[in-house]
Amino acid sequence: MVQLPIRSLCAASLVACTTLAQQNASTYDYIIVGGGTADSVLVVEYGPLNNDSSILLPSETLVSHADRYYNITSVPIPGLLNVTRPVLAGAIVGGGSAVNGMFFDRGSASDYDAWETLGNPGWGFQSLLPYFNKGVTFTPPSAQFAEMYNYTWDIGKAYGGQGEVQVSFPPYQFPGQEYVWNAWNELGIKKPDEAAGGEAVGAIQAPSALDPVTRTRSYARTTHYDGVPGIPSLERPLSRGTININTSDPANVPIVDYGTFSNPLDIAVAIPLVTFARKFNKLNAFANLGATEISPGANVTSETGIAEFLRRSFAPTAADIIKERTEWA
Ligand SMILES: Cc1cc2nc3c(=O)[nH]c(=O)nc-3n(C[C@H](O)[C@H](O)[C@H](O)COP(=O)(O)OP(=O)(O)OC[C@H]3O[C@@H](n4cnc5c(N)ncnc54)[C@H](O)[C@@H]3O)c2cc1C
Repeated sequence: MVQLPIRSLCAASLVACTTLAQQNASTYDYIIVGGGTADSVLVVEYGPLNNDSSILLPSETLVSHADRYYNITSVPIPGLLNVTRPVLAGAIVGGGSAVNGMFFDRGSASDYDAWETLGNPGWGFQSLLPYFNKGVTFTPPSAQFAEMYNYTWDIGKAYGGQGEVQVSFPPYQFPGQEYVWNAWNELGIKKPDEAAGGEAVGAIQAPSALDPVTRTRSYARTTHYDGVPGIPSLERPLSRGTININTSDPANVPIVDYGTFSNPLDIAVAIPLVTFARKFNKLNAFANLGATEISPGANVTSETGIAEFLRRSFAPTAADIIKERTEWA
């Protein structure tokens, strides 16, 4: 492999990128299409450099800006009563890391180890951990905030690198969180001291992709482009969707078929989620809040009724329904 001559991210257009690439070299070992979270050598990026400073604000994770996403809608989803759903994929320099919830988590060791077991040496958790560490710098919270929000971490298990992505705990949590933590505790669900060290099981508290000094989003643009010279949980539904190019117009957006609940086992294991949510919300931890069920409504108790509610309201992305059913029911 030759030394790569350019470390650059092109944002304006494919043509502009091609031009820049031609100015710098005629051959590349790697060309990465899309300037998202994955690091890059020469990146050809579809989306614009969006200079709206609100991208940096953690509060913006609660706001959806259509201009930062692809305008793609799925095909009707039979498993969800034929609704269509938007496909949330960042179309912007920074990709998903510019629009995401900043929740900085990793899978469990067993997730990665399963890849290795399937015949991919080097893809187990312990092999990947040094690379995970290399990409991020973790800054612990102050003693005051650690105590206030019961933040726990273990740098030896999960961090220790000095990479560009900044990871830290925010100095603020929404009021009321203590109820939820108390509820998990009441159920005996443990909170790992450091979930990112391969223990992403239980009630998880993760830090954010957050600059500890400016308290702003640390994302692919700020880490791999700005200032650089030249760049859950287990999710195992059985239903399978597809993404195909539009054969009548390959330049058009892809045809996204989520296929949600197309496998009957998925709806069968999702129904107990509603039962569990009811049980969870009746825990002593919430007793003094006086909450009442709004949706699907206490009168919806049959499996058919719950299934119909799920098909009406379920987000067509994944949930860890298998683990929730087997461990928490
Ligand atoms: C709303 C939302 C909230 C999320 N919240 C979290 C969270 O809290 N925590 C978490 O860990 N993950 C979260 N995620 C998921 C996470 O952001 C993504 O998994 C991650 O950013 C994917 O990185 P990537 O590099 O694989 O792809 P992306 O970041 O999506 O990058 C792909 C890039 O390719 C570009 N591109 C696509 N097609 C072309 C083309 N033909 N030519 C040129 N460029 C192209 C796109 O514009 C994009 O910039 C969230 C995602 C979304 C959408």
